[in-house]
Amino acid sequence: MIPSNNNLQSRDLEVLWHPCTQMKDHENLPLVPIRRGKGVWLEDYSGRRYLDAISSWWVNLFGHSNFQITQAIRRQLDRLQQVMLAGFTHESAVQLAERLVAMTPEGLCRCFLTDNGSSAVEVALKMSHHYWRNQGRPGKFRYICLEHGYHGETLGALAVSAVPLYRQAYTPLLMDALVAPSPEGSTREAGVTLEEHARLKFVEMEALLERHAAEVCAVIVEPLVQGAGGMRMYHPVYLQLLREACQRYQVHLIADEIAVGFGRTGTMFACEQAGISPDLMCLSKGLSGGYLPIAAVLTHEDMYQAFYDDYGKGTTFMHSHSYTGNSLACSAAVATLGLLQDHSFAGRLEQLETRMAQAAECFADHPHAGEVRQTGVIVAVEMVRDAQTREPYPVAERRGLAVYRYGLEHGVLLRPLGNVLYFMPPYVITPEQVGTMMETALRALHVATKE
Ligand code: PMP
Repeated sequence: MIPSNNNLQSRDLEVLWHPCTQMKDHENLPLVPIRRGKGVWLEDYSGRRYLDAISSWWVNLFGHSNFQITQAIRRQLDRLQQVMLAGFTHESAVQLAERLVAMTPEGLCRCFLTDNGSSAVEVALKMSHHYWRNQGRPGKFRYICLEHGYHGETLGALAVSAVPLYRQAYTPLLMDALVAPSPEGSTREAGVTLEEHARLKFVEMEALLERHAAEVCAVIVEPLVQGAGGMRMYHPVYLQLLREACQRYQVHLIADEIAVGFGRTGTMFACEQAGISPDLMCLSKGLSGGYLPIAAVLTHEDMYQAFYDDYGKGTTFMHSHSYTGNSLACSAAVATLGLLQDHSFAGRLEQLETRMAQAAECFADHPHAGEVRQTGVIVAVEMVRDAQTREPYPVAERRGLAVYRYGLEHGVLLRPLGNVLYFMPPYVITPEQVGTMMETALRALHVATKE
């Protein structure tokens, strides 16, 4: 059967069950079968193109069908497609770990590989508790996370996520985490700076640490931007205060840079803007440039040494996934890191940041655009009933879905998070395409907010 939009749509709905999707929506929302991708464009079987304004769930950094990454995978494919990483090793895994150790913040010198973001979070959570256990402190098994935080949807990662939409059906299954107020600035009082707001919110985090240090092994945060919780942004001073307090209370700091790493916030890693180094750093998504699933957890020598002993002592970190360190994914990641470390990259990223800020001005006077915020090359716009009072739309009205539909009809893949419209495009987007993307989104906002 020759594939076409129509026949793939109907065959799909016979057999597939899609992620984070109410399948009944597809009774009147057509699936979009994609035939190929090139640069910022995805193309369906009728030749219609969609500008990928969200980098296909934030994974794509250098465009679809990037020449260098494709070539790297091809070369790897001719040599070795997969070997288990227990007892064996291979060149791409070694190169990847060497590069990550060299480019991540000071002190992160050990790299544990896994194959998706949620698994990286599970690794960090388990490693933290196991460290304290190996140090004779098994009572440290709880976690502190942030309101609006999101770290994935496996049970451990979900337990330290505080976005009700993803959690509510599974609450009885989840371990009991401590939740600190988010430092994000969208709800701050008029006249309060982002920094003052972050400092204010830190007071409660500090109180939680003080009260629970004996039972808490780690605090987990998304540095600077809380992604799936609504692209909520906060001041780096919060990370500095947190780093210092974690040290004082003997609690690990886990930086989940799965969404914000690799340039998204304007620096290679968001932690750099606070000048801090976490105890555990989770990376995934952009790591392979949006080609293949891979993730890494970086940590320091002290962590590694706490597990390093005679086998009989039982201190081994017992965690594995079959595809850990898959060689094709590692080769894609090594090529991606090469592109990120190209001498011209920082300058191009800065230009994109400026261009996105300029283009986002089009939302400034819209009566239904609440806060327009930006960190690096992430821009978010709150859709609200009234821009003056910031009165939100009830989520049940699904205005975001109306934006999504309008975007598809007009050649731009926008996928708002509830009422938050956002842009996180591949870095290869041109200044003109940034304009097209934002102007289409503005018209979508207009249509979606008509009563
Ligand atoms: N952490 C963060 C900050 C994320 O944004 C995500 C994915 N949206 C994850 C963890 C989970 O990654 P994955 O979808 O690869 O499991």
